[in-house]
Amino acid sequence: MNTLPNEEMQQIYSRYRDIQLKLRERHASREQKKNVRKAFSLAFNAHKDMRRRSGEPYILHPLEVANIILDNMNLGATSVICALLHDTVEDTEYTLQDIETLFGEEVAYIIDGLTKIDDVSDTQASKQFETFRKILLSMSKDARVILIKLADRLHNMRTLDSMPADKQMKISSETLYMYAPLAHRLGFYNIKSELEDLAMKYQDPGSYEYIAKKIQESSSEREQFISDFTAPIKEKLTEKGFSFEILSRTKSIYSIWQKMTKKKIPFDEVYDLFAIRIIIDSDEEHQKSSCWSVYSLVTDIYTPRSDRLRDWISTPKSNGYQSLHTTVMSHTGKWVEVQIRTRQMDAIAENGFAAHWVYKENNKQSYEQGVDAWLSKIKEILQNNDSNTGELVAGVKMNLFNKEIFVFTPKGDEHTMPENSTVLDFAYEIGEQLGNFCIGAKVNNKLVPPSYLLKSGDQIEIITSKKQKVHEEWLSFVATSKAVDSISKVLQKERDDKINEGKSILKTYFKKYDVEINKINRDKLMAFCNCKDKQELYIGIYNGTITEANVKQCFSKIGLFYKFVNAVKPIFKWVKGIKNLFSVDNAIRRKLSQNPQSLLLGENVHEIKQIIATCCNPVAGDQVIAFSLNDKEIVVHRANCSNAIQLSAKYGDKIVKAKWRPQQTQVDFLTGIYIKGFDSKGLVHSITGIISQDFQVNCRSIQFESSEGIFEGRISLYIQHVDNLNKLMDKLKLIQGIEKVERI
Ligand code: MN
Repeated sequence: MNTLPNEEMQQIYSRYRDIQLKLRERHASREQKKNVRKAFSLAFNAHKDMRRRSGEPYILHPLEVANIILDNMNLGATSVICALLHDTVEDTEYTLQDIETLFGEEVAYIIDGLTKIDDVSDTQASKQFETFRKILLSMSKDARVILIKLADRLHNMRTLDSMPADKQMKISSETLYMYAPLAHRLGFYNIKSELEDLAMKYQDPGSYEYIAKKIQESSSEREQFISDFTAPIKEKLTEKGFSFEILSRTKSIYSIWQKMTKKKIPFDEVYDLFAIRIIIDSDEEHQKSSCWSVYSLVTDIYTPRSDRLRDWISTPKSNGYQSLHTTVMSHTGKWVEVQIRTRQMDAIAENGFAAHWVYKENNKQSYEQGVDAWLSKIKEILQNNDSNTGELVAGVKMNLFNKEIFVFTPKGDEHTMPENSTVLDFAYEIGEQLGNFCIGAKVNNKLVPPSYLLKSGDQIEIITSKKQKVHEEWLSFVATSKAVDSISKVLQKERDDKINEGKSILKTYFKKYDVEINKINRDKLMAFCNCKDKQELYIGIYNGTITEANVKQCFSKIGLFYKFVNAVKPIFKWVKGIKNLFSVDNAIRRKLSQNPQSLLLGENVHEIKQIIATCCNPVAGDQVIAFSLNDKEIVVHRANCSNAIQLSAKYGDKIVKAKWRPQQTQVDFLTGIYIKGFDSKGLVHSITGIISQDFQVNCRSIQFESSEGIFEGRISLYIQHVDNLNKLMDKLKLIQGIEKVERI
């Protein structure tokens, strides 16, 4: 089978040997190792003439996926076989039947699951969400399908460099939007962080490199601090006879960036840049007590912050995570997060879901329950929702992204709920009828309304009344998709009833005034009463806002006048539209659309109007991503815009190649900057001086505020290229007293 250059063959065999070595370490049987060899030769032959876009032999991809499965997920021989074969049915001559004959039903089932996922994502990228749904559904039958898919995605992200730019955008948004949260929920902390960092590298390369450089620059100072900080802990733990290891973990680039943007703070103010982790070797029975003894020793040395203690040991997260977190004050006055856990807890925290198979005998109970509960919850969401996928995305997102709280029934049964859940969410969580008739609850024995926001540890007794009715405003304070679905269902049913009732009332009116019951007359009445559709008409009649007198008027001569009013209405609307056209933002957009040379667009789309998204206001030189959601226009977003990330996950196939032309012609972009600092005499003068004289930039609006010596300014201005903007911002930062200058 040797058809490749020697060097490549060596690389391939070395990665294959790694797999066999790892399997031997895990005491795989001879039979299993033989089957892995069989799978390897089949995959090798099947892919032998194929190369990846990077130029590498294709077989390296399945080999890497199999290695990830072993290194990061602790899975066994069957999963390795599936990883090696995962692209064969999809991309080569081999059929599922061949796989089943050679490797049996179990392997064929998993490969089938993986192939089906690929079917969808390859034929039509916009169906990406559908893919996700399938993954989640198949996961509930055999979790290995999703784990292999996740490993596949991780390796594809690691090798994303060789893909064209628009594919990079699409794949990295999907990763941020779906795969990273999924990895998180399954407890693969390492994979989640790596996926996020890799995705950010493509989504926002500037910020990525900035933070990477900052971490690098501050590393030696940090190491010194950590060694000073941990020295007394090491001494104390050794003295007390603990066997332990102390690690320090720097936050991932992505999560540092998240923190900086969410809290609007510069890099230097991210106080929890790293955490100290103490891993204890402990026997099964003493796990919890050893962690607490170490906690007590650490807090003897350093003062803890009382509001920052997190006990994930007594109540593990639903992905199985167990650890004790505390934040303590170092002797140099710096807050430091300390995580305390046993070796076993650490394995689960790092490598998630599958790690419990390693510790199966010991830790089965709590962990499997958590995973099962999560899987069935996802299944519930997917099955509940037969409406459009947009809602489904929102539903999954709502449940995937939110943090969790733990609450209890009066009997002490524990329920995991998303953060921001209210009493009403909990009622629906327990049962639909309980939600529909909920009038409030006793939370920790205090009476509270349905909108009451729950916190971890609350004990809730729902109170119902037969007289209660579902209200539309309930939708404004529920956080779970289950509650949203149930409430919408009841409201829809009520609406349907009203419509039917209104319809029959209208029939009696028509009969009374001898009006024929037909569409023409109904439309006439709709126009007369200013209803936008027939449902509104029927509900109006049911509610009594449209009366018998109205019907009478409409079909008598007076009705003619109203008809006239309705006829001239569109003219008023048109006049209003013209006014809008002359507003400043539109002027900019008009200017840009008259000047399509500003962007280089791919694939026959240069004729189409370009629109600059108002959510993120990209300017020339920014990393951009463009969408053509219909045939008439292309909307350009900044690549790191959260709307754009969501759009690309949903409409991957609508991404259009776009980048700025190098020599920008005279097009101005509207952008905004925010300035903060200490107020002083002449400050405003210096700022406006730099903007209008040094840079000759036109401002659209300037707004300065000062209170208690702190100065804040918001300036919107027209600039031509992001480089100008950056230079301007750098210059502003140099003004004495200015602490912060950033884009809005
Ligand atoms: Mn693959």
